[in-house]
Amino acid sequence: MLFSKFVTYLERLETTSSRLILIDILAELFTIASKEDIDKIIYLTQGRVAPFFAPLEIGMADKTVAETIARSYASKKEDVLALYNKLGDMGKAAQDLNLENRDKNKNLTVADVFNILIKIANTNGEGTVEKRIMLLSGLLVEMNGVSARHLVRIPLGNNRLGIGDPTILDGLALAILGDRNRRKLLEKAYSETSDLGLIGKTLKTDGLDGVRKLMVRVGCPIRSELCERLPGPEKVFEKMSPNGEGVHATPKYDGFRVQIHKNDDDVRMFSRNLEDMTHMFPEIIDGTRKQIMAKTAILDTEALAYQPESEEFLPFQETTKRRRKHNIAQMAEQLPLKAFVFDILYINGKSLLDTPLTERMTILADIVYDGDVLIPAPGKILYDSSDLQKMLDDSISKGLEGVVVKRTDSLYEAGGRNFNWVKLKRHSSGELNDTIDCVVLGYIAGKGKRAAFGAGALLVGVYDKEKDMFMSVSKIGTGLTDEEWKEIYERADKLRVDQKPARVDSIIVPSVWVRPEIVIEILADEITRSPNHTAGKKSAIINGQIESESGYALRFPRLVTFRSADRRPEDATTVNELITMYNQQGKK
Ligand code: ATP
Repeated sequence: MLFSKFVTYLERLETTSSRLILIDILAELFTIASKEDIDKIIYLTQGRVAPFFAPLEIGMADKTVAETIARSYASKKEDVLALYNKLGDMGKAAQDLNLENRDKNKNLTVADVFNILIKIANTNGEGTVEKRIMLLSGLLVEMNGVSARHLVRIPLGNNRLGIGDPTILDGLALAILGDRNRRKLLEKAYSETSDLGLIGKTLKTDGLDGVRKLMVRVGCPIRSELCERLPGPEKVFEKMSPNGEGVHATPKYDGFRVQIHKNDDDVRMFSRNLEDMTHMFPEIIDGTRKQIMAKTAILDTEALAYQPESEEFLPFQETTKRRRKHNIAQMAEQLPLKAFVFDILYINGKSLLDTPLTERMTILADIVYDGDVLIPAPGKILYDSSDLQKMLDDSISKGLEGVVVKRTDSLYEAGGRNFNWVKLKRHSSGELNDTIDCVVLGYIAGKGKRAAFGAGALLVGVYDKEKDMFMSVSKIGTGLTDEEWKEIYERADKLRVDQKPARVDSIIVPSVWVRPEIVIEILADEITRSPNHTAGKKSAIINGQIESESGYALRFPRLVTFRSADRRPEDATTVNELITMYNQQGKK
């Protein structure tokens, strides 16, 4: 496919504010894409040249891209930057300056552009910046203004389409299986390989049968299984051990979820939001090499900061310091992490996803050698709610978050959140007992002192997994320090867009819409019903009139912390979770 043809689809995707139209356009694009191109087209549509988990970053700074544009279109870097500041989009700046080729279509194909972007990503060592400029400029002089606008956003990591993975799956299902509702048939493969390009290519080449045969692979993260909530130990036994089979319980560690992939001496690690974090935890790489008695393995673990002097587990905020990209070796020494291994998903060439939990725990206990870094957490089977209450009290008194309870016979459901796994946390009597991860959808201009920060309140939303959309749930104006206001405003301002993004649903119209990317953790007193918010709002046509039920909203919301470091927007609390929490309020 010609790159200019692909760009006509990006243009259409960029201008629609309807998610259903997004899916139609994607389906049209995937229908005409060849089996050689489809994976590249999928990655590029998401502003990437590889799946999200691959550590292949093109990463060019604003100034370097400005220099590239300047050289390509006979301008000056300063002029490009001035135009960028005025327009707020480097893509538009490139388009405006591309005078000569403005209307010309050259013969660059999607594969040509993709391969050069891969080369840019793989360039390193001396002279990297110059080599990258030459490569990107080689493309820019060959393309028209509109193509240039879309291209330069990729190395800046500023793809503005914001198309989530489920929307890509909907597009594939509509294009190749004839109905977007058949997305369900692709979800298992997606949860087990996390690679949309691979799924698209397999679907085009070998059809649905091929996709069904896609297997867990060491090196491709498996989407994490997550927990539901229940109000207390008694309810846990009612729901999870109806015939007295007992429940499996482990402490809930409050750190980073780290999925460890071992392939001989090659060890890679992925976060819960499927990012490669291998470089961040050198001590865990070492520990895995020394302590895991298997050639290949995938382990589900929680990594925590541990203070050797006081033998204390440190709170999450301390652990997050490790997300910073510098001084890793020094941090590993000062703040060594332990990885509590609570599950095993693959061993010596065999997937364990369809092996019941208790068997997985036996395998786990066998393959972790004693050592300093990996600590097996195979848990206990409990038969009585008072024992579970004791374990909960004990965990909390040790500074841990609570307990995670699992059904003894459950298989590992990649990407699932259901009553196979349930978390019990500390505040569990009456008041809302959990925080909510929300996505910033926009901001409302500030008055008085807040005017100085640009924003007076944020409009935030939760994630509707079925619709792949962000639904408004609250405005939040308290709990932020002046510093945090400044920080959040600066971040939000970089993501401002002219119109409501296609995947956002809100009745409230903020002063400024923001691309849904920033995740914040919020504590609220209560979840209430509200006609003003769209989270969980249902509408029906009754006697020709649209009748709608209220949505759900947060009462007295306040910011706890920023969570963008370990959460993608699609990892935010879902509408279904919010409704479960609403139904559990006030019950013990
Ligand atoms: P929270 O914000 O309450 O930590 P969460 O959004 O991270 O919850 P949940 O599904 O609610 O995710 O809880 C599961 C998380 O708990 C896992 O992602 C993992 O990081 C952590 N965890 C800690 N200990 C365990 C354990 N023993 N088994 C499973 N998950 C555990």
